[in-house]
Amino acid sequence: MEKVTQSTERENNYRYNVVRNKKLTYLKRKNMLLAAELMRYTHSVQLDAHTLSLADGLMKSLRSCGGSTLYSYDGSKIELVSFLGCGHRLCNICNWDRQKKIRRKYLKWFDANPCLYILADEEGRGEKAVTASQRMKWLNKGWQELGEVRYNIMHLMLSVPHTVNGWRGRRFYFREITKQFNFMRKKKDWLYWVYGGQFGLETTKNANGYHIHIHALLFVRNAKQNRNQLHRVVLYWWNHLTVDEANERGNFSPEEVAAIRKGNCTLSDEFVATLDPRGATIIHLQNIFVCKATEDGTVYKHHIDVDDWKTEDFIGAVLETISYLFKPKVFAVTDNMFDCEAIIDILPQVYNNRSLYSKFGCLLGERTLNVHDNTLLEDLAEAADLKGEGDEYGGKEFFITNPSNTYSTDSMIRLKKRNTGTVTVPASCTSEAVRMLYESNYQKPTL
Ligand SMILES: [Zn+2]
Repeated sequence: MEKVTQSTERENNYRYNVVRNKKLTYLKRKNMLLAAELMRYTHSVQLDAHTLSLADGLMKSLRSCGGSTLYSYDGSKIELVSFLGCGHRLCNICNWDRQKKIRRKYLKWFDANPCLYILADEEGRGEKAVTASQRMKWLNKGWQELGEVRYNIMHLMLSVPHTVNGWRGRRFYFREITKQFNFMRKKKDWLYWVYGGQFGLETTKNANGYHIHIHALLFVRNAKQNRNQLHRVVLYWWNHLTVDEANERGNFSPEEVAAIRKGNCTLSDEFVATLDPRGATIIHLQNIFVCKATEDGTVYKHHIDVDDWKTEDFIGAVLETISYLFKPKVFAVTDNMFDCEAIIDILPQVYNNRSLYSKFGCLLGERTLNVHDNTLLEDLAEAADLKGEGDEYGGKEFFITNPSNTYSTDSMIRLKKRNTGTVTVPASCTSEAVRMLYESNYQKPTL
């Protein structure tokens, strides 16, 4: 019985591996297409030397990314093991890879962290929520433990009031919007409700120009009406923190008041009167729901509760929120058409703003959730998941090739050119092969 389960698991893993290779091949092609379009675009416009060098760097990254991809062959099937990414923020392969890795990290993390610990400092002046991995550090510093708490997960989306000149006279305002978000997170009532989380910046473009939004995954105090209570706190502070003097909106019209109140049934007209018409007035804060069905098959939205923890629905909903942080959708007009003007516009901004996603509060110091942490180990973990009989008996061969040298038939990965398109890696097991891929800077095979 156990053997049957093991072999089904292996089959599923292999199917997943073939899908992963298809995706990598597809994104590699997309990267090449984008590089070619960028090349045409940069030749058709006047760019300053700095932007041009950034554009050259991006094209180089797009072309090289994934070019060295490690595969294994166990005598019957080829498996994708790992690849060398370029690490560029605007790379299709690397964004997909980041998204995938961070999802896997969160999956593991939620598994290990069903609750947080509330600690108080010696004099009882302050309290903080910490994770299991941070708990001992603070106890050793003399903090006292008050108990464990469960938390709710919410998705917050914040934008700023936009005029024809952008916000506060700037077309791009990555740094400014982050600064205001940092201010808000210091407010007492925010700290009461939010234990911590992770956020990212998303850029969209319309006729009015570029819009930069904050997407955040929040770990929120578990209490009745917590969504509405937190919504009120965020609306109040975000409104005041985002006031743009150049915004000419005067008093709220009755429709605007109604629109603001629609977002939260506990808001009164008196509360709305405390808001500044020149600041943001609509914020999106959602509880993460799961869909459930009643006995007669009616599907309804259901709040996440303890029973849903770790269910597929829960994980799907949380991971979708996290994915927002890694979707640079502004650049794609369609699947194979790109907005080169937007890419070139945004390139110096991305270059100047290293931190487009950050953790805060209880997630600070959670190294296992760092986007760039343990790339090699993560890959090894994945390779270990895929470890088949070949590994146990040391019978696998390893080679490096460009994923575009592969294709898939009958749910198998196959090679186009075996002799000229591949470089053999003389490793005896998967982990050694991955290490060699990363360490020895293999020359890319010529295709
Ligand atoms: Zn890349």
